[in-house]
Amino acid sequence: MKDFTFHRPRAVAEAVALLKGRAEAKLLSGGQSLLPLLKLDLAEPTDLVSLAGIGELKQIRVESDRVVIGALVSHDAVNRSPEVAARIPALAELAGLIGDAQVRNRGTIGGSVAHADPAADYPAALLALGATIATDRRKIPADQFFTGLFETALARDEIVTAVHFPIPKRAAYRKFAHRASKYALVGVMVAQTANGVRVAVTGAASKVFRVAAMEAALGKKLTAEAIAGIAVPAADLSGDAEASAEYRAHLVSVMAKRAVLACA
Ligand SMILES: Cc1cc2nc3c(=O)[nH]c(=O)nc-3n(C[C@H](O)[C@H](O)[C@H](O)COP(=O)(O)OP(=O)(O)OC[C@H]3O[C@@H](n4cnc5c(N)ncnc54)[C@H](O)[C@@H]3O)c2cc1C
Repeated sequence: MKDFTFHRPRAVAEAVALLKGRAEAKLLSGGQSLLPLLKLDLAEPTDLVSLAGIGELKQIRVESDRVVIGALVSHDAVNRSPEVAARIPALAELAGLIGDAQVRNRGTIGGSVAHADPAADYPAALLALGATIATDRRKIPADQFFTGLFETALARDEIVTAVHFPIPKRAAYRKFAHRASKYALVGVMVAQTANGVRVAVTGAASKVFRVAAMEAALGKKLTAEAIAGIAVPAADLSGDAEASAEYRAHLVSVMAKRAVLACA
């Protein structure tokens, strides 16, 4: 690991200023994804800007039709939040499925969405629930946020401050997890929202994606039978040592049906 300068700003504006002046600086939240990269010398920042001292990023609040989760809220806090459990139980459940207890205690929602790991769980929730990502300078719809493998619409010096989740009529998440890491080999969230049914898949391709054919069928009838004949082409999916593209395609169908059944 290379030497770096550690900064602990007390406000978002201060953190943005630190990033702007330092081209090779990186933000640090829970460190669950960044620290392994530092240890392997896969990232060599000159400066680490820790968000840990910014209290405003640690809040969960409920507005009339949405739950707003601050970027620095840990997966464990989302999992245990009575506000989240009462309004979007599928989101609380999803957070409880991430990694292990240590990862959930340190890892944050802001770090997870900014990192955009193709097998991470939150991206499926953001896309299926039609969430909006708030940053220090703008609001980005989830449909425009995840742009590629570990790539997002964020500028280099842009900080995720919160995620706004509209409260769905119903939603459920089902994943087939990697046995060791618990990352999704395939995870599917199905949500019945004010704007129709949305189906989002994580773990299966280079980035999270929606399945339009399933959404159309489930919009007519929210039953597992409605999507019985709908498959995602394996040619569009990832294949690796953990699972072939064909197996992932099969898992998408199975997890989608389980999520629909859990919505009932
Ligand atoms: C053993 C293990 C198992 C795991 N299993 C799972 C799993 O099952 N499912 C899952 O979804 N994830 C899993 N993870 C990943 C975990 O959820 C991480 O916490 C998450 O991916 C990153 O969050 P973090 O707060 O630790 O971010 P960090 O590691 O601190 O940062 C990650 C990246 O995001 C940037 N960043 C951080 N915060 C912000 C911000 N507010 N705005 C802009 N950029 C920011 C950083 O600069 C860095 O590039 C696992 C991790 C480990 C180590």
